Amino acid sequence: MTNGNQPPLWIKDPLAILADGAARGIVVQGGRIVELVAAGGSPATLDFKIFDAGRHVMLPGLINTHHHFYQTLTRAVPAALDRELFPWLQALYPIWARLTPEALDLGMTLAMAELALSGCTTTTDHHYVFPVGLEDSIDIEVKAALRLGLRVLLTRGSMNLSQRDGGLPPDSVVQDEDTILADSERVVARYHDPGPGAMVQIALAPCSPFSVTTALMRSTADLAQRLNVRMHTHLAETEDENRFCQEVHNCRPLDYLEDCGWLNDRVWLAHGVHFDAGEIKRLARAGTTISHCPCSNQALASGTCPVCAMEAAGVRVGIGVDGSASNDASNLMQEVRAAFLLQRSRNGVTEVSHLDALRWATKGSAACVGRTDIGEIAVGAMADLALFKLDELRFSGSGDPLAALVLCGAHRADRVMVGGRWIVENGQILGLDLGDLIRRHSAAARKLQAGS
Ligand SMILES: [Zn+2]
Repeated sequence: MTNGNQPPLWIKDPLAILADGAARGIVVQGGRIVELVAAGGSPATLDFKIFDAGRHVMLPGLINTHHHFYQTLTRAVPAALDRELFPWLQALYPIWARLTPEALDLGMTLAMAELALSGCTTTTDHHYVFPVGLEDSIDIEVKAALRLGLRVLLTRGSMNLSQRDGGLPPDSVVQDEDTILADSERVVARYHDPGPGAMVQIALAPCSPFSVTTALMRSTADLAQRLNVRMHTHLAETEDENRFCQEVHNCRPLDYLEDCGWLNDRVWLAHGVHFDAGEIKRLARAGTTISHCPCSNQALASGTCPVCAMEAAGVRVGIGVDGSASNDASNLMQEVRAAFLLQRSRNGVTEVSHLDALRWATKGSAACVGRTDIGEIAVGAMADLALFKLDELRFSGSGDPLAALVLCGAHRADRVMVGGRWIVENGQILGLDLGDLIRRHSAAARKLQAGS
C-alpha cells in the first residue's frame, strides 16, 4: 500500500496547515510526504498532479491512543447509566460475554469508521474480552482495519482474574495465562510489522490491575520484551482502583506497576488521573507515556488527568476517546476539543491553547504508540492527513482557521489520507455503505443487549 507507482501529488494552497514552512502545501509520493512548499514557492518535484486544498484546513492525521471498539455495541445501556467505574463494569460484563464474531466485526468496523470520519488516521484498540467462540478476535479486527485502510496498533488484551479469584469480571469473559500468552505470541508473529510505515502493529495489554493476576502482568512484560512490542493497560483511573491496590497489594497503582516490570518506555497507560508529583517524575524518568481520555473521565467522574504537570515534568501525553460505553462517542476531533476545555478549566487560559490540544492528538499520541513516522507534517513522515472544510454553520464568521477547528467544534473531516491513499472523500468513507453498516450494527447491538 505504498502507492509507489503513482505520480507525486501536490496538495496545494491549503486555507491553513499545521506545519511550518508549508504555506503552499505539501507534495506526497510513495505514501510519504516528500516536500513542504513554502510561501511564494512551488514544488521542486516534477510531473506532479494537483489537489486544490484552497477550502481545506490541513492537520497531520489524528492518532487515537485508547479505545475498546466492541463497546460501540453497548452505548448508553440503561443498566449502566449513572454508575461509577466498578458497578458500571459489572453491569456490562454479562452483555459483553454474549459477543459473537459477527457482532464484534460490526462493532469494530463501526468504531473505525467513526474515527476515520473525525480525522483519525491511526488508532489503537484495547480488546480484552475473549469469551468462548471469540478466540479469533484480533484476527477479525485486523481484517476490518485492512478493509477500511486505517493504520492500527491493535492490542492483544487479557483478563485472567475473575470473581472466583477475587477479581471484578465474571468467569465467562476471562482466559487462563497459558492461553493468553500463546495467543499473544501467535498474533504478534502473524500480524506485527516492526518497520517504518507499518499499517498493522500489535501490542500486549492486560486489562487492568483488578482483572489480571500479578503473574500475568509479569509474564506479559517478559514476552513483550522478548518480542519487542509495546505494552498497554489502564492505570490510575479512579480512587476505587487506589483502594483496591492498597488493600490487595499494599501499595499504590504505580508501585504495583513497577513491581510487575511495567515502568519503562515500552508502556503507554490509559487515563493516569490519580498520579501525585513524585509519581509523575517517576513516569518521566521511565519514559512511560499517558493516554488522556477527557470525555470518559468526565462521564465516569473519575477526575482530571494532570496533563500540564506531566508535560512540564517531561511525560509525553496523547489523546484517546476510550471505549464507546463510557464516552460514548468515537469522535477524535471532538475529543481534542474536550481535552482543550478540560485542561483549560484545570490549568488556566494561558497554560493551554488550541495548538496544545492538537499537538496532544498528533505528536503526543505518536509518542504513545511508539512511532516517529507519523503525527506531524514533515518531510519523510507518512502521508497521513486530515482535511477539514469550514463551510458549516458552526464555523461561519471564524478568523483563525486552526483555532476554529477546536473552538467551533469541528466534528467531521472532508478528506482523510493514510499512507498517501485517500480513505475519506467528501465526508464519505470510500467503499463503505454507512447506512447499511448502521442498520446491521444497530440490529446486532439490540440483540446483544436483549440477551437473545
Ligand atoms: Zn479504557
